[in-house]
Amino acid sequence: MNLPLLKPALKTNVQRVGILLPLRLSGSYDYIIDQDLPRGSLVTAPLGPREYLACVWRPAEGEVEEAKLKRATPISANPRLPESLCDFIDWVAQYTLTSPGLVLALALRVPQAFEPAVARLGYVRGPTTPGRLTLARQRALDIAADGLARSIGSLAEEANVSPAVVRGLIDAGSLTETGLPEFDRFTEPDPEFKFTTLNLEQEAAARSLCGAVASERFSASLLDGVTGSGKTETYFEAVAEALRRGKQALILLPEIALTVQFLDRFAERFGCRPAEWHSDLTSKERRRSYRAVMSGEARAVVGARSALFLPFSKLGVIVVDEEHEQAYKQEEGAIYHARDMAVVRARIENCPIVLASATPSLETYVNASSGRYKWLKLPRRHGSAVLPKVQLIDLRRARAEAGTWLSQPLRDALAATLESGEQALLFLNRRGYAPLTLCETCGHKMTCRQCSAWLVQHRYHRKLVCHHCGFETPLAHACPQCQAVTSFVACGPGVERVAEEFTSLFPHARMAIASSDTLHGPAETQAAIRAMAKHEIDVVIGTQIVAKGHHFPQLTLVGVVDGDLGGADGDLRSRERTFQLLHQVSGRAGRAEKPGLVLIQTRNPEDMVMKALASGDRNAFYEQERIYRQRAQAPPFGRFAAIILSGTDGDAVRECGRMLSAAAPPGRGVKVWGPTPAFYQILRGRTRERLLVQAERHVDIQAYLRAWLARVQCPNAVRLAVDVDPVSFF
Ligand code: ADP
Ligand code: ZN
Repeated sequence: MNLPLLKPALKTNVQRVGILLPLRLSGSYDYIIDQDLPRGSLVTAPLGPREYLACVWRPAEGEVEEAKLKRATPISANPRLPESLCDFIDWVAQYTLTSPGLVLALALRVPQAFEPAVARLGYVRGPTTPGRLTLARQRALDIAADGLARSIGSLAEEANVSPAVVRGLIDAGSLTETGLPEFDRFTEPDPEFKFTTLNLEQEAAARSLCGAVASERFSASLLDGVTGSGKTETYFEAVAEALRRGKQALILLPEIALTVQFLDRFAERFGCRPAEWHSDLTSKERRRSYRAVMSGEARAVVGARSALFLPFSKLGVIVVDEEHEQAYKQEEGAIYHARDMAVVRARIENCPIVLASATPSLETYVNASSGRYKWLKLPRRHGSAVLPKVQLIDLRRARAEAGTWLSQPLRDALAATLESGEQALLFLNRRGYAPLTLCETCGHKMTCRQCSAWLVQHRYHRKLVCHHCGFETPLAHACPQCQAVTSFVACGPGVERVAEEFTSLFPHARMAIASSDTLHGPAETQAAIRAMAKHEIDVVIGTQIVAKGHHFPQLTLVGVVDGDLGGADGDLRSRERTFQLLHQVSGRAGRAEKPGLVLIQTRNPEDMVMKALASGDRNAFYEQERIYRQRAQAPPFGRFAAIILSGTDGDAVRECGRMLSAAAPPGRGVKVWGPTPAFYQILRGRTRERLLVQAERHVDIQAYLRAWLARVQCPNAVRLAVDVDPVSFF
């Protein structure tokens, strides 16, 4: 008999364990560790020359000899990610075909959060009274008399004395040293701070949501309310219920909607601002929020999509506001849809989720109408405000003169609005002056050097800009192809060009352009919004930056310069996107007492998107779209996944595409399309090819993709990205 050699059992507490590093690796690696740590515990683990913050993930594989294993070190105070977050990370990795380490990296974005707390020095009233008692010293001692510990800085500030005065008191023994926590505590939002009297529909919806929170079980609800119906007021009640039950609440917003206004509205209802989570936080603020979420101290968090990966310890409800927004899709690194993954997180946490929108995604609409999600409707605007009247302007008849973009009916409406002292918004989702600049002599189109895209003319800054890679070049004098001088013509309008036309028509109106070129960062955007709200501006000409969420009581006219823009891309979601955007923009008009009017210029007034906008029959559009998708076996009636190949060597990319396509395994109910050049064939100098997998609903598309990708080895020069449930088809 061949007995394996038994090693003498080690009498120490050495454990082998699978540890996940926050890197693009295929899975966890075995390490040894001196302590028995549960899943989710954070450690530092060496890999190559570096140490990483990593996470105890699962039992060891046991394939590598123990002697060869590296040692991981526990972190003092043993911080630990909640088990549910670990399960969530595994789930997201599995679904999106991303390496679990890359998903873990989303949850460990703030490594500093696990460093031991840095105690600050604070001071309290000490036993001795100083010999020399100046007025300043007396003031400082009076403040310190309440016994609370304060830093030198805050005591000096509160007493209105210089820090030197405080130091003098310390030296004199009149103030003694004590520890202060590193951060001030988050104030606890008070669910009973200020009640909003809800109208009947809001009340019914809020009751349903509160019931869902009270059940402490998973459920999904669509809060489907027209713009201005008070969706926020309504879902705040669900947040209040979670707070009452001692739980945490997460509100996800598209980054652009994360405004001071929103935080203030929260504070009006709950008495303090929520914890925030978005790209604008400093690393200190991140550390503070992260730790407070993990300990449960932060009870309400408002954040952008990455907040979904925070270590909540007792989540009671998730709200996804503007759930249809494309901004929820993360397109780089770990490619995931935050709305869909939020539903998964709610399921894992066993708490309810609320999806709110005036124009839900078709997927959510179908889930609501099939009964899978509860469908809560707010069909009216709150108060006396009514939905605006929407009219189409048929550009085939009401043609604007060549080189102009505002038709006569729209000009008349603008004149009438200005006449009556009200405000207007002209919407065109295109930055700059003109999307295309070409040479009239030879027809040469100015394109980007490293992208297959036109350069957009920005006349205000006198340059041509690539909106994909940021490449810029001054507006040249001569054509680079035929050298003809002053032969360039601008084709088509951008907001700057519409502004130019507007100013020539209404030279005395106060006009502002609102796009990401003219408004730099949140502060300037806030300032512009405030100026508009205070009626310091008569007309805003803007891109989608002004389409969302804002409330301007005096705004009664919305003009859509080109209603057909966007609908022409022809991808799966372009019609839905156009409808959502125009509906959202239209919703800016007439939000207070005065009724609103929306004029949409279009060349396709017969199109369902336009007809539904004009009739106000939103669901007619959704029902037609549902039929299209059903026929095409497109999501949610079938499954899509895209494979995007890219690289600087175009031939290698194309060759890799052919190889992949040839290696596609046959699968029942699966079709593979492509490879085809992507819409933007070259971006940032990288050639891009796409393949699309289309599968019937019952197919396990992840298993199919895994089997397929296991068969091929992409050359190092070609990057392969998998996009499950793609939103963008570029
Ligand atoms: P939505 O998000 O559905 O577009 P909002 O929640 O922004 O709508 O509400 C629109 C406006 O109506 C806001 O100014 C809001 O404060 C107000 N409002 C909504 N519901 C109420 C209510 N029950 N009582 C008082 N004001 C309300
Ligand atoms: Zn470019």
